[in-house]
Amino acid sequence: MRVSQLFNPTLREVPAEAEVISHQLMVRAGLIRKTASGLYTYLPLGLRILKKMEAIVRAEMEAKGGQEILMPILQPAELWKESGRWEAYGAELMRIKDRHNREFCLGPTHEEIITDLIRGEIRSYKQLPLLLYQIQNKYRDERRPRFGLMRGREFVMKDLYSFDRDETGMDESYQKMYDAYCRIFTRCGLVYRAVEADAGAIGGTGATHEFMVLANSGENAVVYCPECSYAANVEKAECHPQIIEDVSPEGPRKLVPTPNVKTIDDLVEFLAVPKTALVKSLLYQGDEKLLLVLVRGDREVNEIKLNNALGGFLSLQLASPEVILTLLGCQPGSVGPLEVPNELMVIADAEVPLMKSAVCGANKADYHFVDAVPSTEFRINKVFDLRMMETGEACPKCGAPLKDARGIEVGQVFKLGTKYSKALGATYLDINGEEKFCEMGCYGVGVSRSIAAAIEQNHDDYGIIWPMPLAPYQCIIVPVSTKDALVVETAVNLYLELQRLGVEVILDDRDERGGVKFKDADLVGYPIRVTLGSKTLANGQVELRERKTGETQLILIKEVAQQVKAIIEKALLF
Ligand code: ATP
Ligand code: MG
Repeated sequence: MRVSQLFNPTLREVPAEAEVISHQLMVRAGLIRKTASGLYTYLPLGLRILKKMEAIVRAEMEAKGGQEILMPILQPAELWKESGRWEAYGAELMRIKDRHNREFCLGPTHEEIITDLIRGEIRSYKQLPLLLYQIQNKYRDERRPRFGLMRGREFVMKDLYSFDRDETGMDESYQKMYDAYCRIFTRCGLVYRAVEADAGAIGGTGATHEFMVLANSGENAVVYCPECSYAANVEKAECHPQIIEDVSPEGPRKLVPTPNVKTIDDLVEFLAVPKTALVKSLLYQGDEKLLLVLVRGDREVNEIKLNNALGGFLSLQLASPEVILTLLGCQPGSVGPLEVPNELMVIADAEVPLMKSAVCGANKADYHFVDAVPSTEFRINKVFDLRMMETGEACPKCGAPLKDARGIEVGQVFKLGTKYSKALGATYLDINGEEKFCEMGCYGVGVSRSIAAAIEQNHDDYGIIWPMPLAPYQCIIVPVSTKDALVVETAVNLYLELQRLGVEVILDDRDERGGVKFKDADLVGYPIRVTLGSKTLANGQVELRERKTGETQLILIKEVAQQVKAIIEKALLF
């Protein structure tokens, strides 16, 4: 390819709405353009990168025995109703109607479609295990599409589904995919961690891991143990109750005036007590139900754990001040667990009943209770681990203090068990002729998001630094003196020679100043640059520069092609 013919509109300025560096650089380097919120057009270089990522994913899926298929994006509502997810998936599902008023959705994932396929085709244990995958656009009406390709409403995903005879088989398929994912992200040169995670809307009963590319811009908080292999999304990280050596109550519980106290901080200051002496009481609304949630004053409620503890799929949110006023007769800041209506369910984090004495709201403006005893005086219906993990807490596996990091979720693997095979009736006859449900797993890679994640980890002030396996072209040739016939001719010859050697090479044949060409090459992030100028060429030499290190060396023109090839081969070794 010649840059003069390439459709690659680069920009010097940072696009106003691009918050994260990968989004800024993808637009500036002319890789993508926005069509509408969460929808992007891939320009030629962007598409080359996407195809490379796809090829890596495809190769690793094939290596584990995955077979590629392609399912429809448009999916009939009936299948989603059969699995129960038409309701449960909520507002993220893009729903549409055809001319006959029949309902469809644009697939956010394909468990229903593939299970429907399998129930029609699989009869015998001899046909299992089966690993089927596709690479395709997915659609999710995200609450906040943002960060360019990172959170789109349309995005490219690889989704593989495994069907096994029994749990042992499912565990093996899971391990295969886990290993394949490690290979994919290592091969792309990414620094990542596999973390224990929550199953979210996909559901299922068994294990699930998320693959997190570590980057400060990541939307996920993860904790990991520097001593052992434990790592988890904070949404999931299991917390052990920490007992505070607090003082016993000074006497029976008392109602004390707390004028103008609205927040936890106000209360701490007014009563001169630590946050750990308080109980935070929050009224939540889930579907039609109301529930009171209690955590210690220094803790935050983990809504994912809360939702799971309640069986999942409640659209949980904090109750509005109007609802609180009607039920408890007070403002949100005065809510407390004592003397609440009998029908109100009270759920406490595991630390609350361990507190010897507590300060809590009194459901009455300008008053709080002090010296309340949670274990005997609170009417608690259920106790769960409901709080957010904090940095420095003990590792649940080995006890060492945990560290935290931010991560971009680039993939997730799930053990589904029989959730979908039961809902849709995907059975087979086992060796004894008995009918059994298939044991399933599903495994997603965010192909387009992975590209953005790669940029988050590989860039500098001048632009992108592509890891070799993802680079749109591996090498760019830059003739700086385009008026010098020898320079131009040598550059073209080198270009042809590299092509013959199988190098993905691009020639910047534009009639531009060297500085302009260098800036664009650095912005786009080609891993190798070969520069030809009149002076060095007079000595038979060209300059070879690696984008990653910025190091340059002068090399004899007759040796440069082999050298470029060697650098590429080394970088692609895996
Ligand atoms: P998130 O928590 O980031 O919304 P998810 O857990 O809902 O993602 P999965 O259902 O696990 O996503 O989908 C598999 C993979 O698809 C994710 O690991 C992620 O890399 C990618 N992905 C999910 N949503 C998006 C999106 N809106 N834009 C780009 N990639 C996405
Ligand atoms: Mg996920």
